[in-house]
Amino acid sequence: MKRIAVVGAGFGGLALAIRLQSAGHATTLVEARDKPGGRAYAWERDGFTFDAGPTVITDPACLRELWALSGNRMEEDVELVPVSPFYRLSWPDGTFFDYSNDEPQLRAEIAKLNPDDVAGYARFLDYSAGVYREGYEKLGHVAFLDFASMLKAAPSLARYQAWRSVYSIVSSYVKDERLRQAFSFHTLLVGGNPMKTSSIYALIHKLEKSGGVWFAKGGTHALIRGMAALFQRLGGTLRLGEKVTQIVKRGDVVTEVATDAGWRGEFDAVASNADIMHSYRDLLGDTKRGKAVARGLERKRFSPSLFVVHFGVRGTWPGIPHHMILFGPRYEGLLKDIYTNGVLPSDFSLYLHHPTVTDPAMAPEGCSTFYALAPVPHLGKAPLDWEAMAERYADTILDEIERRLMPGLRERIVTRFHYTPRDFEQDLQAWQGSAFSLEPVLTQSAWFRTHNRDDKIGNLYFVGAGTHPGAGIPGVVGSAKATARLMLADLA
Ligand SMILES: Cc1cc2nc3c(=O)[nH]c(=O)nc-3n(C[C@H](O)[C@H](O)[C@H](O)COP(=O)(O)OP(=O)(O)OC[C@H]3O[C@@H](n4cnc5c(N)ncnc54)[C@H](O)[C@@H]3O)c2cc1C
Repeated sequence: MKRIAVVGAGFGGLALAIRLQSAGHATTLVEARDKPGGRAYAWERDGFTFDAGPTVITDPACLRELWALSGNRMEEDVELVPVSPFYRLSWPDGTFFDYSNDEPQLRAEIAKLNPDDVAGYARFLDYSAGVYREGYEKLGHVAFLDFASMLKAAPSLARYQAWRSVYSIVSSYVKDERLRQAFSFHTLLVGGNPMKTSSIYALIHKLEKSGGVWFAKGGTHALIRGMAALFQRLGGTLRLGEKVTQIVKRGDVVTEVATDAGWRGEFDAVASNADIMHSYRDLLGDTKRGKAVARGLERKRFSPSLFVVHFGVRGTWPGIPHHMILFGPRYEGLLKDIYTNGVLPSDFSLYLHHPTVTDPAMAPEGCSTFYALAPVPHLGKAPLDWEAMAERYADTILDEIERRLMPGLRERIVTRFHYTPRDFEQDLQAWQGSAFSLEPVLTQSAWFRTHNRDDKIGNLYFVGAGTHPGAGIPGVVGSAKATARLMLADLA
């Protein structure tokens, strides 16, 4: 039995800690905040439950596996319920598209927008299934530690034209601009610009289609609580409200973890789920290695940030589905402003979360919980004074929702608050306030991403959005599998 520390209890850190503890290693999970979850934090306000981040749960099998490792069942801790439609996509011209895995219904929805695209969609689905097999099933849980591993993947990357963007591939199959948006926007869920993200990420379409879209009863944080409970039942130690201030290196290895509470622990191996820049620059900042890697990371492209306005309202809206995208008048131009120009657009594409349509218990009787999310440039591109402008920006988002979807909304709001790029920076130590860590472009993927084991410090590991395969729940849970495999082999 070895002693292992995991820094940070996001989805990735929790999944890794469960895997290590299930394998019999004495694992200590240290989390800076008062609750586990990271991006998947949650708040209770005036009787409303607000999930902070992820709401679309895909590939539930990757989560069930965490319980099965120790002969347990996820259902003992968490209830997942299916969501249908997966999303409703709506455009300013009043058209909408309900997206689900009910094949005849999906074909009818496509035909509603452009009958000629039904056949093209079927070919796109074949393409998506192919990249899903190669990119997710075969390579999504395998660490890329050397260039040779990248070369091995090269033939598949070439076969699926991985240098092209998701939008470009989708456009080669479907002609209607709204359908092009409908089948390419998914990269935004992992921080990628559909116009720039490698077409390999078209696999998300197949992932959703095969595994479905799910929601945890009580909210995504119920899933986090379930994972934390499992970890502790297995004998793992969870230290909450303690920020790691240093990962101590002696010679070629790391030996200790120190926190702001004055606690120090000795370990045989350490894995960090904290932001990768924070890990190298701050936690290993007194080492040559930490400084060198941090300098390299400064030259990388990080995903944009997000602005989220949470609101609890009187009344129920059974006609508004659980997940909705309100596309704005621009797509490519809007993305360019956010990703490249560092401009805060005055128009927006919004994601609207309406959990109480699935689980009314997340709000007081007769009330509803919502959040609306807008992608915004990160602080490196646009160092805006969010403190001063956030209230106004939230108002413009609520005005847009009131105008397009919920007449009389403003009079019904019982409670509201917002989360800005500065909050990502302060609460989560997120470099430039990025919501998803490194941007998932081909030149920052697989071997080009932060390695799951440090190249020089043999017992230092990484897990989470900044590592392979990347952001999103299935991504970071997959990174935990890749990292655990390495650690268990190294520590055997
Ligand atoms: C608003 C939003 C919506 C999203 N929606 C979806 C979705 O619907 N579906 C989906 O699959 N994905 C979604 N994502 C992406 C997904 O949530 C993230 O990619 C994923 O949760 C990141 O997990 P992680 O393991 O990298 O850790 P993080 O969640 O980043 O957690 C890292 C943890 O490390 C802790 N930490 C940092 N520094 C220290 C330190 N020094 N000491 C101790 N602890 C430290 C932090 O407090 C944090 O708890 C969304 C993200 C956001 C922000």
